[in-house]
Amino acid sequence: MSRAPSRLSADIDFDKEGKQTGFVRLPHSVHRSAYGWIPIPVTCIRNGEGPRVLLTAGNHGDEYEGQVALMKLVRSLEPRDVRGRIIVLSAANFPAAMAGTRTSPIDEGNLNRSFPGDPNGTVTEQIAYYIESVLLAQSDFALDMHSGGSSLMYVPSALARRFDEPEKTKRSVELLRAFGAPVGYLTDAPQGADRTLTAGAERQGVTCMGTELGGSGTVTPAALRAGEAGLRRVLGLVGALTDPPKEKPPETRLMEVRGWDYYVYAPDSGLWEPLVELGDEVAAGQPAAAIHFPDTPWREPTIAKFARAGTVICKRIPGRTERGDCLFHLGTPVKL
Ligand code: CA
Repeated sequence: MSRAPSRLSADIDFDKEGKQTGFVRLPHSVHRSAYGWIPIPVTCIRNGEGPRVLLTAGNHGDEYEGQVALMKLVRSLEPRDVRGRIIVLSAANFPAAMAGTRTSPIDEGNLNRSFPGDPNGTVTEQIAYYIESVLLAQSDFALDMHSGGSSLMYVPSALARRFDEPEKTKRSVELLRAFGAPVGYLTDAPQGADRTLTAGAERQGVTCMGTELGGSGTVTPAALRAGEAGLRRVLGLVGALTDPPKEKPPETRLMEVRGWDYYVYAPDSGLWEPLVELGDEVAAGQPAAAIHFPDTPWREPTIAKFARAGTVICKRIPGRTERGDCLFHLGTPVKL
């Protein structure tokens, strides 16, 4: 990994006490603006000694619940409410967030597949590099708020890593329980995991968790409520609030999401008919979806099946599908 400094810089001082709002400036020289920069909004709230927290949303621009939760938090939190420091990037991949798309309209970059980033790379790679080498490098705890975005819908969930070290996994479980989403699941290293913000946090020695709050390219009130309340409780747990929420978190269903057999992919392209719903318990071999062929309506549909038993916690939203799209994924009760 290059040690060159990031080309991005914040117009606020993260070492200063109090509440500051401003922009991380990403130099971007283009036809309409020769000396311009991309303004990534940032808030820093600092009050004395305490944990250094980084909160992010809009890592994928079409995942809205976390963005709304963090905008509301930024407006409501004052320095007296905070112990230590909270930095908030509610639109982390700002060009994607403004376009309402998963990836950046500038470079097609998927921020959560761009870590550790590159100081001389594309716009998205430069954002990743700044988040990892500057923000995560000076954090103790990070929460990266995702949802299903445009193509997926989740049972509102929080997630954290399972580690080889039992003590670290125990902390993950504490965070999931404190967040108190309907589902809290442990993950192993999934596809592209070394390129995620979470992986960056691990490289920087930062305790990290995430969410998958809802999705469908919209804001669901119940998912947003779960996200906002969970966010406050987790900030309380890590010691970042002077007056942490006192109420007991709602019971979270502790689950795990492991190998490829947890996922169902479209075996053909066409119009897909879901045969189960979010939250359903399914058996190994159970039909998950029928793929119909509008261009050959008399052709028998292709049936996709679940490879294993589990609970359906994620479902594809658009009716059209292409071979290789994820249609469902499962969770199973966690074995610790
Ligand atoms: Ca996401």
